[in-house]
This record gives sequence, structure tokens and C-alpha cells, in this order.
Amino acid sequence: EEVQQEEQGITGVIEDNKNGNVVNATVKAAFVSLVRNEDLAEIVKTVTNLEERFNGKFHYPYVFLNNEPFSDPFKEAIREVVSSDVKFGLIPREHWSFPEWIDQERAAEVRATADYIYGDSESYRHMCRYESGFFWRHELMEKYDYYWRVEPSTKLHCDVNYDVFQWMQDNNKVYGFTVSIKEFESTIKTLWKTTMNFTKEYPEYLAENNMLDYISNDHGETYNLCHFWSNFEVASLNFWRSEAYRKYFEHLDKAGGFFYERWGDAPVHSIAAALFLPSEQVHYFPEIGYFHHPFNNCPLDQDIWHKNKCTCSRMLDFSFQGYSCTKEYYDFKKMKKPDGWEMFRS
Ligand code: GDP
Ligand code: MN
Repeated sequence: EEVQQEEQGITGVIEDNKNGNVVNATVKAAFVSLVRNEDLAEIVKTVTNLEERFNGKFHYPYVFLNNEPFSDPFKEAIREVVSSDVKFGLIPREHWSFPEWIDQERAAEVRATADYIYGDSESYRHMCRYESGFFWRHELMEKYDYYWRVEPSTKLHCDVNYDVFQWMQDNNKVYGFTVSIKEFESTIKTLWKTTMNFTKEYPEYLAENNMLDYISNDHGETYNLCHFWSNFEVASLNFWRSEAYRKYFEHLDKAGGFFYERWGDAPVHSIAAALFLPSEQVHYFPEIGYFHHPFNNCPLDQDIWHKNKCTCSRMLDFSFQGYSCTKEYYDFKKMKKPDGWEMFRS
């Protein structure tokens, strides 16, 4: 096969034996979706849209993960709408349960009194801990270098006409996002303090040219709550597999905040990316129109909006609204903000 590729001069492009699609074999990448059987209708809509907007051209495989076995109707319905290989994985019990050092009575007490969103939910906490510390360890993910996270009920607003994974690899990017936002402070009361204890112990993990001043307005004293919304991520699995991140996750997990508070995987991923990666390896995708309730990433650039057949309203773009952190991201990176951004600030 390799010889044939060279002859054709299209290195890395091979036939996918299963369905005859041409797939990119130089980038080891997959979509990954953590989802429940009962989300079938929503995930089918989302995947159908993803195929229309992107994957019908590229045929990257999918990995679906669940803490319960996927039902046969779920698997059949998914296979019907994708243009590529699909795997369905069961999450091992150890990755979706209380670690032995957690005081479950204390955790239950927190759930009974917490007054923030999902504050009463045990499963949401397992989910956040799983997305922080375990999805990248699932055996079905082992052969991949990059992933694109897909959640039910999300949508791409525009065509994505280039190979995003190839672009990540060629440009040495590690973490890509579409929406940034401020976290509810009450869900992460001790996350920053716990993080700073970690960086004091392991200063060697802090990247030179990191993004500390994007997530802290006082050079590390406090967290400004800015994070990348992790329901969409295109990122490197090897970053989560790195010693720095593994140790960081272990440190957080031991501190118990996934259960005694309600630490989200979004601030955990974002803080790690901001501290352990050089700024150049973090990327914002303005052209990937995206929706997850209740916010949109809609390209403000008119040429992009037309060329990529976007169907979103630019007036509803979240990027430069006050509760987003994307303006701060542009300022931090000294990037030119798109024309019209000021209309979102009165
Ligand atoms: P939100 O975006 O923070 O409001 O949380 P979601 O309800 O969208 O959950 C985040 C992701 O985790 C989605 O991909 C869900 O499908 C998935 N998820 C949440 N809870 C569970 C669960 O108990 N089991 C499984 N298998 N997936 C879950
Ligand atoms: Mn969601």
C-alpha cells in the first residue's frame, strides 16, 4: 500500500478497506463522543450535521464511550449515518466511580446543599472527572494522536473545508477551541489554590511563554474564571498523556474537588493548556461555526461566512460578548480582532 501511495504521489492517503472511502492515514485522529443510549436522537442529528459539514470529505473514525453498554439500536443508528469506521466502548468501572480516598458521605452532603447548576448530580461529577482524567486512557483511544470531541445537541454552522486534524499536526498545535467563557466560581472554589500548590511543587512543568496572564489578571494570585468550553475540542491526546498533565490530574483528583466541589473538565483542561503549553500551541478556530446551547461561535468575517455556507447569525456570535473570554484571548495574543467586534460591547 505504501509503495502505491508513493507512486501516486499522495503520501498517506489510503483506501479504507471497509467502505471504500479514501482516508487520511498520516494523522491518527478520531471523533470521540461520551454519550448515553437515551441521547440517540440528538447524537444522530449532531453526527449527521458533522458528516455534512466536515467528515463526508475526510472520513475520520468515531469512538463512542459510555458508562453503560451501548444498545444495539444505538449502534445500528450510528452506523447508518457515519461515513467511516465506528467503535463503541464501555468505560471501565474504575474510571467512573468514587476513588477510595473520597469520603462519600461528605460528597453526598455537598450534593444535597450545592446551589449551582448540576450541583445535586453525582453522574455529572463522574462525567467531569472522566473527561478530565480518563477518556484519553480508554483502550479505543490508544492508537490516536488527536481527537475532536462531539456532544449530542451540538451543531456545526458552516462547512469545514480543510482537514482540521492535518492542520493541527502540520502547525504543531495541541489544543483548539471555538468558545471561551467564564466559569461559575462556586463550582471551583479551591481549584486555583490546588493548582498553585501543584505548580509550586512542580515549577518545571510550567511552559515558557505560557498563558498564565490569560487566565489570571494578577499574575497568578487569582483565577479570572476564563476557560475554553470543552464540549468542542480538537486537541492532542498526547498532551493529556504527558507526565505534566497526568501528575496534575492526580493532584486534583487526590484533592477531591471533582466530588467535594463540582470541578468541570473545561476549567481543568483549560488551566492545564494555559500553564503547561506555550501560547503558540493553543488555537482558536474563528471559522468553525459551532453551537452548543446556549452559545454560538459564528464567523464575523463576511468572506468566510459566505464561502463556508454558514447558516448562523453573526449578530448571535458569542465571541465578543461580555461573558466570553475570546476578546481577552485576542488581546493576550495581540491578534487583530475581526471587524465589527465592538458591536457586542455597549
Ligand atoms: P453540559 O454540556 O455541561 O450541560 O453537560 P452535558 O449533559 O452535555 O454532558 C457533557 C457530556 O457528557 C455530553 O457528551 C453528554 O452526552 C455526556 N454525559 C453526561 N452525563 C453522562 C452520563 O451519565 N453517561 C454518559 N455516558 N454520558 C454522559
Ligand atoms: Mn453539553
